[in-house]
Amino acid sequence: MIPFLDLKGINAQYRDELIKAATDVIDSGWYVQGQQVKAFEQEFAEYCGTKHAIGVANGLDALILTLRAYKELGKLKEGDEVIVPANTYIASILAITESRLKPILVEPNEHTYNLDSTLIELAITPNTKAILAVHLYGQLADMPTINSIAQKHNLLVIEDSAQSHGAQMHGRRAGNWGDASGFSFYPGKNLGALGDAGAVTTNDDELAQAIRALGNYGSHRKYENLYQGVNSRLDEMQAALLRVKLKNLDNETKRRQEIAAMYINGIKNDAIVLPMLPNSTPLTPGNCVWHLFVIRTKLREKLQSYLSEHGIQSLIHYPIAPHHQRAYKDWKHQSYPITESIHREVLSLPISPILDNESVNRVISITNGFE
Ligand SMILES: *Cc1c(COP(=O)(O)O)cnc(C)c1O
Repeated sequence: MIPFLDLKGINAQYRDELIKAATDVIDSGWYVQGQQVKAFEQEFAEYCGTKHAIGVANGLDALILTLRAYKELGKLKEGDEVIVPANTYIASILAITESRLKPILVEPNEHTYNLDSTLIELAITPNTKAILAVHLYGQLADMPTINSIAQKHNLLVIEDSAQSHGAQMHGRRAGNWGDASGFSFYPGKNLGALGDAGAVTTNDDELAQAIRALGNYGSHRKYENLYQGVNSRLDEMQAALLRVKLKNLDNETKRRQEIAAMYINGIKNDAIVLPMLPNSTPLTPGNCVWHLFVIRTKLREKLQSYLSEHGIQSLIHYPIAPHHQRAYKDWKHQSYPITESIHREVLSLPISPILDNESVNRVISITNGFE
């Protein structure tokens, strides 16, 4: 059986170091807001190339706290419109509605699954105040174009980098393209904690300060409250474990890219569409951090059961479009044909830093035998 993702195996690579890091935290007697979080925040900010990283409880909170901070700073107000890709993972949209802002769903480019930048300007109204650009599956959204549109219309740009730790374009990494960026360190992400964790990166001092306070009861100084905040903090244990994982992230990404290159060169089947660049040429392995390797086929259900019969686990990211979710039942009559076809056709093949060449070659030859 080739599993989709062997989390136990991934963390087993660093077992001794993780146990040492955990032991140090246990023995330190300090479990929240201490040296480990501070060190991780510095290391992660440096990794992304930003001035600040603020540890929070999870990726959804990273986005919610960012939007909330912009409201506290008077840059967003209730009801403002935020442009977001219609096919994103639901958390991007939950962050907008939780903040009482209005998501404006925009169709993705059908080749990259990221925001179609030619459609963004058509969606802008006088109420539009921000673009939440998602780097889905590990590929950066078209940030140069998105940033120039934002500049022209005076919009904030927030990145959802939950699937793209380390992804770069022109030497600039995910998390350092927008005004702020949310990261998730959920165990299955490219940089995964051993529990829930997240962070916001930004170069904006004022925003960083507001997010830090909002996630700590609204308090910037002990027993003094600037805001009606929440408790959303990264803890010492997860920060210590993340420091071990961060040191190895680039190596893990390199292995993901090698696997992607093998799939891109090896999979030859007319029924299957491989990951693409916007101009529909194959995606270069180095331009993506391959959180997922997503193929497309009109015969998705048949391919998934065929792979399963041959001992290969595949998953669907994602089976139900946000506008078809019960949670957003008011949107059920809206139509996003590209998004809907993506949700009908995508399938994710196994990819992980510990998948060996033999398994990759087996996935390739079985997939090529599908008809
Ligand atoms: C995982 C994910 C999130 C949410 O992160 P959590 O840590 O699970 O809250 C947000 N956006 C995207 C695109 C994600 O993949």
